[in-house]
Amino acid sequence: MKDLYCAVDLGGTKINIGIMTKEGEVLDNIKIPTEVEKGPDNSINNIKKTIYELLERLNLTKNDLKGIGIGSPGPIDSEKGIIVESCNLKGWKNVKLVEQLSDEFEGINIKLQNDGNAAALGEYLFGFGKGCKNFIYITVSTGVGGGAIIDSKLQVGASSNAFEAGHMIINMNGRKCSCGNNGCFEAYASGTSIEKIASERIVNEESIISEISKGEKVKAEHVFESAKRGDKLALEIVENEGYYLGIGIFNIMAMYNPEKISIGGGVSNCLDMFYDKMMDTINSMSLKPSTKICKIEKAKRDDCGLIGAGALAFYNE
Ligand SMILES: [Zn+2]
Repeated sequence: MKDLYCAVDLGGTKINIGIMTKEGEVLDNIKIPTEVEKGPDNSINNIKKTIYELLERLNLTKNDLKGIGIGSPGPIDSEKGIIVESCNLKGWKNVKLVEQLSDEFEGINIKLQNDGNAAALGEYLFGFGKGCKNFIYITVSTGVGGGAIIDSKLQVGASSNAFEAGHMIINMNGRKCSCGNNGCFEAYASGTSIEKIASERIVNEESIISEISKGEKVKAEHVFESAKRGDKLALEIVENEGYYLGIGIFNIMAMYNPEKISIGGGVSNCLDMFYDKMMDTINSMSLKPSTKICKIEKAKRDDCGLIGAGALAFYNE
């Protein structure tokens, strides 16, 4: 039998749990609601139950598992296996996740890592990053996150919280970010920022965005849909998405000189609508040796958060 690993992709609204091989094949997976408000013990019990359910479905026992890998919203402490605190897991503080799972899965190697880093590892090993040495994964959805693999090594930093690219400041006097600082990359390029910028501007400007959103809260997909229909304001917001993403990616290229960058997350589904603007922005900058060598594409594995989490259990950090 192939070596099997359990992958846990812990998110603010749902937890995706799967059993996978070292080759990145997910044999089976189950998504359960996180139910953050019920506290960590409830969620951890549900994770345990779901792992057993998956094992049963695959006719396996826990002794068949070589390891368990967990990707979680940060900040975390990977060495201690603790979720320190997270705005996506409100009220959870210093949760000893690895210890609590170890009580149940004794003797099994359990690894915890920041979810952006885990997803980067998944896309690196099994997606667009396959075969290269220096790779960056960027996810653009509610926020902007990701991870870096340099010289084939996942860059986790001193406390596993490296690559908070979303909070790289690109405009000193800019928009307020959810983290409290001003002018963060994600305050301009995330799905949430597209929604906020559109909501602010439709108050005074003519646009079909509110018609598309049927007067409800504007979502990024409404803006993209309006742009497809030729709405001038929506087209401008989408163009700006390409511009700001280009600025952020340029900064990342300047730091890491990667061979490949892949972009995942919900907003990347519309990447073709702002790809040219993004590339024009990058190509208009200096540091040509870094920008010319790098290929940028949409992420190949939608499930990189899951498979990357599982890969933590066997990838040599
Ligand atoms: Zn920020």
